[in-house]
This record gives sequence, structure tokens and C-alpha cells, in this order.
Amino acid sequence: MDFEMEDVPVCDVIYQPTEKAKYNAHLSSFDEYKKLYDESIRDPESFWKKMAHETLSWDIPFQKVSSGSFQDANIKWFEDGYLNACYNCVDRHANKNPNKVAIYWEGDQTSESRSISYLEMKNEICRLANYLESIGVKKGDCVAIYMPMIPEAVYAMLACVRIGAIHSVVFGGFSDEALKDRIIDAKCRVVITADEGVRGGKVIHLKNIVDQAIESVEFVKTVLVVKRTGEPSIQMKADRDVWYHEKVSTQSKDHKPVSMNSEDLLFILYTSGSTGKPKGVAHSTAGYLLYASLTFKYVFNYAENDIFGCMADVGWITGHSYVVYGPLCNGATIVLFDSTPFYPDASRYWQVVDKALRKAGDAFPLKYDLSSLRVLGSVGEPINPEAWQWYYDKIGRNKCALVDTYWQTETGGIVITPISSVTPTKPGAATLPFFGIEPALLDPHSGHEISGNGVCGVLAIKSPWPSITRTVYGDHERYKMTYFTQYPGYYFTGDSAARDSNGYYWIRGRVDDVINVSGHRLSTAEIENALINYPECAEAAVIGKPDEITGQSICVFCILRNPNIDKEKAKTDIIKQVRKSIGPIATPKSVYLVPDLPKTRSGKIMRRLLRKIVSGETNFGDLTTLSDPSIINKINIIVSQ
Ligand code: ATP
Ligand code: MG
Repeated sequence: MDFEMEDVPVCDVIYQPTEKAKYNAHLSSFDEYKKLYDESIRDPESFWKKMAHETLSWDIPFQKVSSGSFQDANIKWFEDGYLNACYNCVDRHANKNPNKVAIYWEGDQTSESRSISYLEMKNEICRLANYLESIGVKKGDCVAIYMPMIPEAVYAMLACVRIGAIHSVVFGGFSDEALKDRIIDAKCRVVITADEGVRGGKVIHLKNIVDQAIESVEFVKTVLVVKRTGEPSIQMKADRDVWYHEKVSTQSKDHKPVSMNSEDLLFILYTSGSTGKPKGVAHSTAGYLLYASLTFKYVFNYAENDIFGCMADVGWITGHSYVVYGPLCNGATIVLFDSTPFYPDASRYWQVVDKALRKAGDAFPLKYDLSSLRVLGSVGEPINPEAWQWYYDKIGRNKCALVDTYWQTETGGIVITPISSVTPTKPGAATLPFFGIEPALLDPHSGHEISGNGVCGVLAIKSPWPSITRTVYGDHERYKMTYFTQYPGYYFTGDSAARDSNGYYWIRGRVDDVINVSGHRLSTAEIENALINYPECAEAAVIGKPDEITGQSICVFCILRNPNIDKEKAKTDIIKQVRKSIGPIATPKSVYLVPDLPKTRSGKIMRRLLRKIVSGETNFGDLTTLSDPSIINKINIIVSQ
């Protein structure tokens, strides 16, 4: 069989929504989803007007629903309305339900945990807002947040938006260089950090890293430091560094939120940098908040007293939309998790399906009572059908909904996903668009839209939705070029996808990662899925390598479960596996057995680096988001052997 990217997955396994997943459902049937979805596409103005009134509390209600276009890269939603995102996420719930738990914090040690009520959270945020105003932070200023996953990180984000400042959260695992770039890019005058973080028993010297990052950055006037570990050797620079507990706790717990225009920026956040230099994605206040809130409510089928655990770090968009803004806007109780999946052992974080976690086997999740779970989520990379099935069977125990949620930093919220209470799912498919999202598959060469089912193409979105990014901070030209130029009239995601016979979407990976062998376009995701079927393979990445005869040839990088097995046999078996699952056209020309893969700090494989290594390039481009830089050298040695 010749496999081509044009071939569409055929999947007979369909899981109907479980009884558990239907609990207190906002939508009671699949037809109801379809009806609402159709309405959202046919008459987006009425749909979003109604949702925006129902979901958000406005200081001055909007009259105008939307304006602008992809062509002109000037999209606006609810542009004459005013509101405050912190008020929406905190005050209105604190007023109604002051004692409800807002944050359930779980620290690095299993013994460390805390519950914080909505009222306590509001008081803390107001104190910090008052302090930030007292040092001159005002509407439109940008504040950098470089913190562990502690409640103060959430307070910092929400105190900024309360006073109209724009936050830029930088993942607490980034280096001083990455932090410096981001502080300079957004001209942050204030940095909020902690003395140290602790993850998996390891100390992260946050304050020291901040010191190095801003050594030559003169415009940083204040570094506000939360005492997390109390390490006595922390150096505080006079006139610049202040302790959070000294300055903030003395402030008043009353603060009036600043009324913001819907289109005022809420935050900027840099993308993961999987495909190039990270982009400073900017999101606006009302559109983002509405979409994050609504996707949270419907996709996870949130019910009043649910505790929602999203294990992402607030340094990523998933942490923004589904740890902070979406759940809090709905008045939910969130879990803030400040550890790693493997600490103290792999049972800590079994909820998240992760290839590495699956390596640890089934013993861990089986030990626990998981009966409180109703909905499981997955995001970030294509989930292969085996991982999906494991997650569904072993964690969900065949009773939970599993939602594979596809989206991007730029989309602000989930755009293709099952609705947990109603959508029948197929292992490995992201399924159907959320309300207001009109996906299109385009021919990569002509840019023409491909209609009908059973087709593949470049994934684009046809019309603006409320939470689409408004600009790349400080570089509107890059914004236009990246998303709207190549396929005029569409938002270009950079990913490719298939639409199967049911109209379900399957994300196939990045367009840049597609491999062309003798004119056959092969998707990396598909070949990687085939490799996972080889029992000795723990994880794999596939790239195209320039080839004189075929244009490109397939090159496999594989991490073996047991590195001590016969390597030559393993390589032959890997080649056989791909030929068997996909066909001779996909026969790998080179197989490298590696100890690890280059990944971003959010866990995405950086295939662009593998491509550079095999073609002998030495300029690797932006490496600031690479998790373990030593891996390049290790792989280089293996490739050149
Ligand atoms: P950069 O844009 O800097 O290269 P990035 O694209 O990795 O970085 P993110 O915005 O964090 O940064 O990731 C979005 C990408 O993650 C999507 O474009 C897609 O490739 C991938 N992705 C997210 N969710 C899914 C999913 N459910 N299935 C498949 N791929 C996914
Ligand atoms: Mg991207």
C-alpha cells in the first residue's frame, strides 16, 4: 500500500459519551452541539453577542460585536465595551461565594498543600494591585512574571490585569538569556519572582537567574521577590529588589479594578519556539476571556462544584487559559501543581498521558482511586491512538470522556475538540470544531480550499473568532506574515490535518515537518505512530533528510525502552515495522538510536533541530527554549558515527 498524506485515517473504533461524561451536561445531545455550532457559523454576531452578555460582567456593555478582517489583520471584538478580567475571575465569585475554594495548591513535597478561598484570593490580589500602583505601574505597562507554580503567580497575573497592566509570564524553567530577551522585548520595568523554586526535589535559583538576566537591563526598576524557600543567601540589590511579604502584606485589601476596553491587551505570551524564534503573542481582554471561559465550560463540561486540575505550567498558554482564566471566570476550584509527574515517583502525575509516563507502565495509576474523574484532556502534540487508548482504559477506566484538544498560543483557547458530554470520539482524532470556528483544509500549493470529507490539507480557519491573537507584540508585520499572507483570507495554523469520512479532524503535525519522498507527501505523525507499535520503541521522531534521488528520505530517531538490546536487530525491526504499517514508500533510510530527543521546555519535539543535525548544519537558530542543550551534541555524535 502506498501511504500518502492525502490518505485519511480510517477508524472503526468509536466511543460514545459515557454516562459519567453526561453528568450535569450543558449540552444534552450531539444534535444540540450541531445546532448551536451551525448557529455560531451562520450568525456569529448574534451568537457571540448572546454568549458575551451571558458569560461576562461588563462595566459598560458593548454595542458593536466584531469588526476587521484577516486581510487587514485588524480584528476587534466588542470594541466599545468595558470590563475588568480580574473582576470577572475573582470579585464576582468572592462576592457571591466568599468561602469557596479558588485554589487548591499542591507543592513539591506531597506533604505541602494549601487551600485558598475566593475571598482570600481577592484580598491578596488587591494588596498586590495596590502595591504595584504605589510603585507607578499603570495601565498599558508590561510586567514580567517569573515564578514557580505558587498561588502568588496567579495573584501576580490577576493583580496586573486588575490595574490594566499587561503581564508577560516567563516559564520558571527558562534560562537567564531567555528571560532577558523577553524582558527587553516587552520593556518590562517590573519583574515579579521568587527566591527559589523547587521541582522534583531540585532547587531552581529563580532570583539569581533574574539577577543575571537584568544585569545590563537598566529599565528594570523593581524586582518583587516572594519568599518561597527562605534560602538565606539570596542577595537583594538596594533600591531595586523588595520582598513581597514586606511590601504587599501591609497594603489595603480594597482596590477598585480599572475598567478596560475590550481590545486593551490582557497579556503577552511567547510561543514554545518549536519551529523558530518564539513569537510574543498578544491577547486582548474581552475576546480572550470570553472564549477561554466558554471552551472551559463546554469542552470539560464544568459543573458547579467540580475541582479542575490542569497540570500545565502558567508559563504556557494552557496554563493561562485552563489553569487561570477559563476556570476562574467560571468560579471553579483549580488545582495549582508545583511539582513534576515523577516526583516522588511516577504515581504523582498519572492524570496526564505522556509518553514518558507510559514508560513507567500501568502499575502506578492502578494503585489509586480515580473514580472522581469525569473528563480527561490531552493537548500539545498529536496523541497517537495507542497513547489515547491507554489513557482512556487505564486512567479513565473506560468511564470518562477523553478530549484531545487542538489549539495554539495564538488561538487563545481550544479550537478543535470533542465536547465531553456529547461528541462520539475516535482514538487519535481531535474531532470537531468548537463554536464559532470554521476550519478549512487548503491545498498547500494552490491555496484552494479542499471541500468534502476524506481529504487532507493545510489546516486554516476561515473567519475570526473572539480570542484570536491581535498581534505579535512589537512586530505587527511578523503577525501579518506568519498567519495571513501565505493563504490570503484565512488564518494559517502551520499544521496539516485530515478530515475523515465523518468530518472528524485528525491533526497530522506541522506543515514544515511533512516529508516528501519521490513526490509522496508523508506525515511525520503517521510514521511516528507506526513506530510506537514496535514494542521496544519508547518514543520516536521522524524527519526528512535531503536525498539526491528521492528529494527527501526518511530518517528515524528512536528511544529504546531497553537500551541494552541488540541494536542492529532493533534497527532492522524498526524498518520492518514502518514498511508493514505504512508501506515500502515509507521505508526509513536511516535509523538512529538515541538516548533522548530535543524538546522544548513544554515537551514538544523540535524536529527542526534534528533536520539541522542530519544535514550537518552548525547554526541551530534560536535555542532558548530547548530543554536540554547537551542533547544536540549527543545526537550529533550518534549521527556522525
Ligand atoms: P512555535 O509557534 O514557536 O513554533 P509551538 O507552535 O510549539 O511553537 P504552541 O502554541 O505552544 O507553540 O503549540 C501549538 C502547536 O501544538 C500547534 O500548532 C500544534 O502543532 C500542536 N498541538 C497542540 N495541540 C495539539 C493536539 N491536540 N494535537 C496535535 N497537535 C497539537
Ligand atoms: Mg506555533
